[in-house]
Amino acid sequence: MATSPYAVHEHHEFVAASREALNSTNLQTALNRLGETLAAGNRTAFEKLPGSALLRDKARAIKDHTLAHLDQYIEELERAVIARGGQVHFAADATDAQQIVVSIARQAGVKRIVKSKSMVTEEIHLNHHLEQQGFEVTETDFGEYIIQLAGERPSHLVAPVVHKTVEEVAEVMNRRLNSNTPADAKALAGLARNKLRAKFFESEMGITGGNFLVAETGTVVMITNEGNGRLTTAVPPIHVALVGIEKLIPKLSDLPIFLKVLARAATGQKMSIYTSIMTGPRRPGEADGPKEFHLVLLDNGRTKILGSPMRESLFCIRCGACLNACPVYRKIGGHAYGGIYSGPIGAVLTPLFDGLKENYHQPHASSLCGACQAACPVKIQIPELLVRNRAAMHDNHHVHWAEERIYHLWSGWMRSPRWYGWLTWSASRVLSKLARSGWMKRLPGPLAGWTASRDFPTPAAKRFRDLWRDGLADES
Ligand code: SF4
Repeated sequence: MATSPYAVHEHHEFVAASREALNSTNLQTALNRLGETLAAGNRTAFEKLPGSALLRDKARAIKDHTLAHLDQYIEELERAVIARGGQVHFAADATDAQQIVVSIARQAGVKRIVKSKSMVTEEIHLNHHLEQQGFEVTETDFGEYIIQLAGERPSHLVAPVVHKTVEEVAEVMNRRLNSNTPADAKALAGLARNKLRAKFFESEMGITGGNFLVAETGTVVMITNEGNGRLTTAVPPIHVALVGIEKLIPKLSDLPIFLKVLARAATGQKMSIYTSIMTGPRRPGEADGPKEFHLVLLDNGRTKILGSPMRESLFCIRCGACLNACPVYRKIGGHAYGGIYSGPIGAVLTPLFDGLKENYHQPHASSLCGACQAACPVKIQIPELLVRNRAAMHDNHHVHWAEERIYHLWSGWMRSPRWYGWLTWSASRVLSKLARSGWMKRLPGPLAGWTASRDFPTPAAKRFRDLWRDGLADES
């Protein structure tokens, strides 16, 4: 197994990690809870929302429009941020973004940094880099704080510690914080609160992500369910918001549409508890807020995706609904995928960000059942994108030669009516001999993997083409 918390899994590591996940009783308990809470909440919340299909269409259309005019909206955003006293930095990749943040911190003599939850900072491994450069970094979202104490990475877009039971959380916190707190969620949250409160007041810089960037006003919108995001941005004298360029929306009047769909998709709430709408640094007469505001706009491969058939993946608002709906994610959890982004959208994004070859397993970890697309608040056609990733891997010869050969033969057979007819005829004859009561317990050779955990139905005695032919014969 890979040892770095940020390592990408090789294919065999993915298989091993998935097996391990399937055999972990604690993880299976935690993942079952996910289906009963977040996935069920999403379904009910959208059912109760009048015109929800229309809202999702509108959200999708806004994303589509913004990406089609992204250059103009980025310029508009930059002008608006500067006009309100903020500074804008452009980061082409992860290294650029890391260096920008370090340079802002060094210039201001920063030593301690607090962070609110942000997937984009995970994407560029910012904490790791800042710590290497000698800064003290503290995650202040409760889940992220636990993850940081455990030395792990998040396993879910919105519920980073969903893979741990309360007993496991208590073990990590007690060990790392030298405490003896019982395995009770409220008591553990109290312990975190006591430790974290001082950090907000000691730190000289707060780092956040951003759920949306409003081009018209230069506003960063941050949505959380804990008050930590507000303390991170209001107490330290410097606020750095690190945001992917795909998070732009044109106008403030577009925001309510996203607020409605994001909260419902993520947690089943009508509204998240905190919606922070921040425009520039503190102004004269204001009681709190940072003296300096920096917006770091991250590309890191996004413009490349923008001009590709995978463009639609940039519509993602990181709600996590596709993870909660996915039958694969719900059995193996987020860590087995091996990337920062997991689940169906992770299987689309990670190969695009980190390389197709290195992430061969990701788009294949899907049954293409479509549950992800049905749950997605912006209707991203995730199964289609997964198939495109698979095709790109195939086109670039990133698949094993034997697999390539088998599919080559298969596609030839499928295109030849004669071969197809012979194959289905043979399969129905051979396989029906192996069946008992309509089911096969064990398939032969390399197909045995399929029946290792489920039975295989016997092919029908009469194929569709035979029924069709007989039907035609009867009619004539
Ligand atoms: S792909 Fe859709 S469902 Fe999945 S995280 Fe993104 S917005 Fe949410």
